[in-house]
Amino acid sequence: MAEARFSCPHCGREQSVEVPTDRCLALHQCTACGAFVTPKAGDCCIVCSYSKARCPVSVRA
Ligand SMILES: [Zn+2]
Repeated sequence: MAEARFSCPHCGREQSVEVPTDRCLALHQCTACGAFVTPKAGDCCIVCSYSKARCPVSVRA
């Protein structure tokens, strides 16, 4: 597992999320507002969409 900083598109809160290193994280529930966050169109992973980092799968590809 890796950790990424994630900004919720609903409430704007930053939080750290545990990201699997072998697959994309396509669903995350915001710890602040409880919204379920899914990736933007064309992105595999919420980390790619809403964090400054790329997910480990994208980095390796
Ligand atoms: Zn939120």
